[in-house]
Amino acid sequence: MNTQTTKTYEYQTEIKKLLDIVIHSLYKNREIFVRELISNAADSLEKIRHIQLSDKDTGKEDLPLEINIEINKDAKTFIISDTGIGMTKDELISNLGTIAHSGSTEFLKNLDNLKGDPANLIGQFGVGFYSAFMVSDHVKFITRSYVKEAEGLVWESDGKNDYTIDREEGITRGARIVLNISDEFIDYTDPEKIKSIIKQYSNFVGYPIKVNGEQVNTIEAIWTKTPADVTEEEYNEFYKFLTNSFTDPRFRKHISTDAPIQMNALLFFPDDNIEKFGFSRLEPGINLYCNKILIETQVKELLPEYFRFVKGIVDSEDLPLNISRETLQDNRVIGKIRKFLVKRVIKFLQDQAKETPDKYIDFWKEFGQFIKEGVHSDFDNKNELAKLLRFESNKTNDDKYKSLEDYVSSMPSDQTDIYYLHGDSKKDVDQSPYLEMFNSNDIEVLYLFEPIDDFVLSALREFDGKKIVSCDSAEIKFPKSKKKKSKSEKSDEAPSNKDMKKFSDWMKTYLKDRISDVKVSDRLTDSPAILVNPDDSMTTHMQKIMQATQAEFKMGNKVLEINPDSSIIQKMFKLWEVDSNSEQLKLSTDQLTDNTFLLAGLPVDTKTMVDRIHKLMGNQVN
Ligand code: ADP
Repeated sequence: MNTQTTKTYEYQTEIKKLLDIVIHSLYKNREIFVRELISNAADSLEKIRHIQLSDKDTGKEDLPLEINIEINKDAKTFIISDTGIGMTKDELISNLGTIAHSGSTEFLKNLDNLKGDPANLIGQFGVGFYSAFMVSDHVKFITRSYVKEAEGLVWESDGKNDYTIDREEGITRGARIVLNISDEFIDYTDPEKIKSIIKQYSNFVGYPIKVNGEQVNTIEAIWTKTPADVTEEEYNEFYKFLTNSFTDPRFRKHISTDAPIQMNALLFFPDDNIEKFGFSRLEPGINLYCNKILIETQVKELLPEYFRFVKGIVDSEDLPLNISRETLQDNRVIGKIRKFLVKRVIKFLQDQAKETPDKYIDFWKEFGQFIKEGVHSDFDNKNELAKLLRFESNKTNDDKYKSLEDYVSSMPSDQTDIYYLHGDSKKDVDQSPYLEMFNSNDIEVLYLFEPIDDFVLSALREFDGKKIVSCDSAEIKFPKSKKKKSKSEKSDEAPSNKDMKKFSDWMKTYLKDRISDVKVSDRLTDSPAILVNPDDSMTTHMQKIMQATQAEFKMGNKVLEINPDSSIIQKMFKLWEVDSNSEQLKLSTDQLTDNTFLLAGLPVDTKTMVDRIHKLMGNQVN
């Protein structure tokens, strides 16, 4: 080496941290270094293929596009070469010395959230090139970029603090990475072991991978075969290759069609939802091919955002090869594919729900949030997506779920609306006073638990022509047959409807600062009073969320409904009849109102309330 031209560079701090983790913590998965280096080589070959297709002059050197691995047990070396785009000196520095690139940044970001073994994460994010240092204490990256007059370069490092870069003559285009395998990992110089690792992780890489001259992988676009010719094992293997995952997919869909456009698609539904654990948002999961040539990975234009958990590939001959990430959005064929695919995915999930309901419920529990996101955001498809929603209700138990279709089909003929109620848990909603009238009349109510659920149903508005209404809505019209007992059935001592109305008018005036109206309720059986929401467009729960997130948002007006049959209300009525200025009446009215606020999950002034309760207690003791 010519020491005159050798320059030493220090790694960025984050890279040092990453290297330390890679070398010391990922010991269980050392073999993935093979997959990571092959994947970089394949990416680089893919890039040169694109360049060659779109620009006839550059990248012209006639080199076979392939990956060669040479293993030498005696020299204790593992060498992987590709004829891809290579790197310039600036690229070496920024790609291998800083953390500006995607995979590793994600890895580090998520490391802090991670409980347990960081090795679980590499499957999802990869640590890329640095994985070489898991088995090697000295790595050389020899490269020449495809750009005109690029110089041959040698990058070298022991994976600790720094690296050197030097020039070298006679280097062909691409990259050649030389790993000196440490003594303890010497089995990675066994060609048979390397071949089996390649079979496991990299079997579907689209370029020949040769180990000591012998091709190991099956280069096959299984999505272009007819489904009958693909085995279950091949599908699963391909999925694992595609997603770097260790588990089989939950569902898969293989589509082959000529109309409205020629297309083969292979879509997979993963087993678990990593967004659920608080990891960062998933990237779109579909790669786009044209006639088996990879155009772009993680294409966001092929499926709506809420289907970002779907992984797979789409291949269409009708696409121009020179399409780029920038032009994808405006491409007509892409638009057609997207329209077609979203309908097929929804239909597929509907079929799964019918054919394997238990499996679908498992899916729903893991991925339901994405379906909800779809109902909320995709106006064109919300009605079909809504069929995929699942709910617990006052008529389900033991972890059973209902669809909106189930709900509608078991509705009595005079019920016009679909009812729902929000709460923290099933137990919480089960005990809610808002359910009284529904339970006593055997009307089904769907339960919502997630903060976004109200927004989802509110975006949907109706299903199968039935309005979807929150149980705390002031507008609820009970079917006539379900109305409460008429006056004639009431005891003689009970105040008349007319008197009760007058009493409620007094209450309305007295409570004018807190309540927009007071009404005699026809929905309560046991509770003395309840707070209902006259705003048709936003439930109380939604208003609470808005208030928590937007300082300027004001909670909407509320209506107090009183139960004329409640003994408390009747006692208050009597107090009012005798003296509408009675302190006991006012204290009771204020406390009753506070109670309804609390039951509606709305804040009350605690100090005022406690003082008032003490007074009421004192009055009683006297
Ligand atoms: P990632 O692949 O996640 O970006 P890596 O650490 O594996 O992270 O690689 C960093 C960057 O180095 C790559 O994005 C690529 O630009 C470059 N690189 C790595 N290996 C090669 C290679 N064999 N040929 C050309 N460039 C490469």
